[in-house]
Amino acid sequence: MCFDSFKNPISKSAYLHRDKCVFSSVFHPLYQQLIMPKQKTITRGKLVSKLDNVFSKFIRQRGSRSDIAQCFTCGKYDHWKKMQCGHFRSRQAYSTRWDEINCQVQCVGCNMFKQGEQYLFAVNLDQKYGEGTATKLYYKSIKLTKYSMIDLREKLEYYQQKIL
Ligand SMILES: [Zn+2]
Repeated sequence: MCFDSFKNPISKSAYLHRDKCVFSSVFHPLYQQLIMPKQKTITRGKLVSKLDNVFSKFIRQRGSRSDIAQCFTCGKYDHWKKMQCGHFRSRQAYSTRWDEINCQVQCVGCNMFKQGEQYLFAVNLDQKYGEGTATKLYYKSIKLTKYSMIDLREKLEYYQQKIL
């Protein structure tokens, strides 16, 4: 009886009474199809890229007043949406990739066309956060840091809550 009900796609309710059912198992494909919510799978690369986007938004919104942000290296003002998240130590270094000090608002000119204005970036970091900040970031960036998928998800959730 129960088996017949599986053949009919409308008889979802019959399956829900699984205590009476021969195929009552959470591992049964029909159970997973009908009852379990579909699990979204995300690759590590996609998770990193999603985190990059959310973190970039956080950095650009963090220092903006009435949506206007200032470039950390040349001082230019513009809407935060037109600015970029500049990295003092490049994004290749995972240990500083999502570091809130290593990342500052930059205009496209400084970030893209002047290779991030590394010298000015370092000078301004030391001025704002204290002498030796740029050096500390350098040493932090050369340390090997591996983030697990759980770490990345936690970071993503953390910054998702901080952005508008
Ligand atoms: Zn600039």
